[in-house]
Amino acid sequence: MAATVAFPGVNMFEAVSDDIDNINVIKGQEDIYEKSKFDQDKDTTTFRQFNDACDRVKSFYAQQHTLQTTAFNLKAREDFRSKTRAEMTVWEALEKLDTFVDECDPDTQESQLTHLLQTAEALRNDGKPRWMQLVGLIHDLGKLLFFYGAKGQWDVVGDTFPVGCAFDDRIVFGTDSFKDNEDYDHEVYKTKFGIYSPGIGLDNVMLSWGHDEYLYHVVKDQSTIPDEGLAMIRYHSFYPWHREGAYRDLMNEKDEAMLKAVLAFNPYDLYSKSDAPPSAQELKVSR
Ligand code: FE
Ligand code: FE
Repeated sequence: MAATVAFPGVNMFEAVSDDIDNINVIKGQEDIYEKSKFDQDKDTTTFRQFNDACDRVKSFYAQQHTLQTTAFNLKAREDFRSKTRAEMTVWEALEKLDTFVDECDPDTQESQLTHLLQTAEALRNDGKPRWMQLVGLIHDLGKLLFFYGAKGQWDVVGDTFPVGCAFDDRIVFGTDSFKDNEDYDHEVYKTKFGIYSPGIGLDNVMLSWGHDEYLYHVVKDQSTIPDEGLAMIRYHSFYPWHREGAYRDLMNEKDEAMLKAVLAFNPYDLYSKSDAPPSAQELKVSR
């Protein structure tokens, strides 16, 4: 029977299996850090070229950086806890998402289903563990938010960053692009650590609200995906952190391990976008 995913709320897996499944879920973990092979012949400098990005991407970030405030974030989290938006199987979710085109992605205008299949297939071809292939397949399913009460694309997609503390200049388009954000001159939020403290751990930091944060909270409670996989989902768009080295002072020991996992996942998300589109029909039949 196909499992049903609640977005969010109702537990999709029978509770009785939870503890059992946790055992050995990390099996094969040693493979996850091995360098990706599928992209070795690609020119990876051609990806994420925001400076040449079209106006669509620029205006997306102008809006996202203005509207992602601490107050909005607290409200979005409250909404998450109080609402179940939909329930569906993973495959139904993939098909529903297929009609969505991400405005802020400079690298692809392929459908989301294609992107998720490309990511999962690249992981499979490199022999990564099955749970990591699953992470590849579902990591963007949080974009379904767009169909369930999002205010626009700015609260669904795009790079993420913490709210409640100073915006780091290593966020795409830099600190200046936050000038119209109401937190920009806030007495506490404009300070380096804001409402946080050094080494507090990213589990305690509010990241800007969007598909990563949303799906992370859904699967944290409704799957047996290990912490490394949850981190791949939660932080995959947190480029200022995992690529640019910002916000490292907020990390604790656990986050050091999570960073390694996120970096191991990143090439599959980013560089599989130029792979030939897999056939959804064939993969659906062979699953
Ligand atoms: Fe994403
Ligand atoms: Fe993605």
